Amino acid sequence: MLNIVLFGPPGAGKGTQSENIIQKYQLTHISTGDLFRKHLSEGTELGKLAQKYMNEGNLVPDDVVIGMVDDKINQTTNSKGFIFDGFPRTVAQAEALDVVLEKKGTPIKGMIALFVEDEELIKRIEHRGKTSGRADDQDIEKIHNRINVYKNETLPVMDYYQKQGKLHEIRGLGTVEEIFERIATAIDTL
Ligand code: ADP
Repeated sequence: MLNIVLFGPPGAGKGTQSENIIQKYQLTHISTGDLFRKHLSEGTELGKLAQKYMNEGNLVPDDVVIGMVDDKINQTTNSKGFIFDGFPRTVAQAEALDVVLEKKGTPIKGMIALFVEDEELIKRIEHRGKTSGRADDQDIEKIHNRINVYKNETLPVMDYYQKQGKLHEIRGLGTVEEIFERIATAIDTL
């Protein structure tokens, strides 16, 4: 199986590029942000629990996230591989993911990390906020908080995969097509 972690700060283009990756490589998409938003719109207990963290731009507690991803992986059959988008976001989540995948005998093949400067990220998120309806996209303080949370809690996840020789860094500036070409070139070496 081709299991990939798609990594990058909020607004880096993970959602957009995931769609291209899924289409080309026929992978199963696991976006924790999308899963939480689905729970939120369906009014589940999990959604209610996650909402207060999401609205402030803070991370949902690890055990909640890990449980949700574990369920999703175990419900999936006949997959060519998983693309993890917005997950793992802490080292504890990365370690837990390794345990889950080890049980299935199918490890992470590589991490694709998108790089975009803060200024561009803020511009993109504010622009998305005009149409996304996402509370966390519409308030400049919450946007800054998400970028800070990324730097403090999520960046160490990159070291975790780098130590395993799995890190592939991609420049996230350019057209969607240009960036996808860089990503596909990296994936084809995995
Ligand atoms: P973005 O990449 O724009 O920040 P996401 O859709 O990935 O957006 O995530 C939205 C919010 O959902 C996050 O700010 C966080 O509150 C919550 N969330 C998503 N994935 C995780 C995760 N793996 N761990 C903890 N919280 C998460």
